[in-house]
Amino acid sequence: MSDVSNSAGSTDSTGSTGSALHCTSCGRPSSECAGCGRELDPPRFCATCGTRLAVRVSPAGYIGRCKHHGEVARS
Ligand SMILES: [Zn+2]
Ligand SMILES: [Zn+2]
Repeated sequence: MSDVSNSAGSTDSTGSTGSALHCTSCGRPSSECAGCGRELDPPRFCATCGTRLAVRVSPAGYIGRCKHHGEVARS
């Protein structure tokens, strides 16, 4: 796995795509919580299903992995 794809990911998470159904900080439905974490904080819950993510933090950033959706967050 030496595929170094430069994922610049220029999609700002302004939440206008409507894909975030859950708060990524507490896992509650977005109807109950519009996001209680700060932007720089790594997500802890899957925005799609609200399952707790396995977050791996490294000096280069973080990778949040949902057991249902796979890698859902990266920085
Ligand atoms: Zn929240
Ligand atoms: Zn998920």
